[in-house]
Amino acid sequence: MQIKIVPVTPFQQNCSILICESTRKAAIVDPGGDLDRLLATVEQAGAEVEKIIITHAHIDHAGGAGELARRLGVPIEGPHREDQFWIDLLPEQGASFGFPPAERFTPHRWLENGDQVTFGEQTLDVYHCPGHTPGHVVLFHPGLRVAIVGDVLFQGSIGRTDFPRGDHATLLRSIRERLWPLGDDVSFVPGHGRTSTFGAERRSNPFVSDAALGR
Ligand SMILES: [Zn+2]
Ligand SMILES: [Zn+2]
Repeated sequence: MQIKIVPVTPFQQNCSILICESTRKAAIVDPGGDLDRLLATVEQAGAEVEKIIITHAHIDHAGGAGELARRLGVPIEGPHREDQFWIDLLPEQGASFGFPPAERFTPHRWLENGDQVTFGEQTLDVYHCPGHTPGHVVLFHPGLRVAIVGDVLFQGSIGRTDFPRGDHATLLRSIRERLWPLGDDVSFVPGHGRTSTFGAERRSNPFVSDAALGR
């Protein structure tokens, strides 16, 4: 599997285009906007979009999902159903951040902890990681040992928890109990900023290092 990271929207959200190299099928994770640029990247790669995957329903991650699904005739999988209220708020989220109008959508499949998402010949494991939003999910590719973590964890930081139904203690628990057990060698693509590894964050992240968590 190949990963192309395309920063989209004024929030520079890392949309990940996942490409199965044997079938050239692609999954687009978190198409927040800039759909024409995403589709040009898919086309340059000689790939065909099979599905859209959403980590959580904030507008910079999910704002383009409804339109893209309609244009391509592909399904949307995720997030967890606890993010329904954020999907319902997409038009208002757009207005308050000065984004173009975002469509509400109904996912073809809600994701649960322990589910798997497939495209081409690739399989991703799903981890429900609430805290930033209650329905946030993380995707893990066991073969590549790479995780797509949305706004759960960043290089040197963690997701905000001051939004409705955000919760700091829950976010810390998600990171400690769902992400760290995957292994220090796992690299991750965060929703914003640069990639890192779980091991590097356990050493030096001021919010969730082993020292900060008293381990
Ligand atoms: Zn977010
Ligand atoms: Zn974000």
